[in-house]
Amino acid sequence: MKDPCAHCEEMMQPYLDHVLTDDEMRAAEAHLAECVDCRRRYKFEESLRVYVRKAATEPMPAELKQKLAALRIPLD
Ligand SMILES: [Zn+2]
Repeated sequence: MKDPCAHCEEMMQPYLDHVLTDDEMRAAEAHLAECVDCRRRYKFEESLRVYVRKAATEPMPAELKQKLAALRIPLD
């Protein structure tokens, strides 16, 4: 019998990409429901993806732009 957590880790990327079959999806979710460690890992991976997606598509917040501008050394 394979270590369920190792199996769960293998499932993580395809799970987050939504390319698992229904059966695999259910198995992954069943394990996540009872395993805090894997749940934490999935959550972390998921939030990382959301962050990366946001960073790629959203314009920089004005506040951050100002902060960066303030760091710039005036040329004149
Ligand atoms: Zn686990």
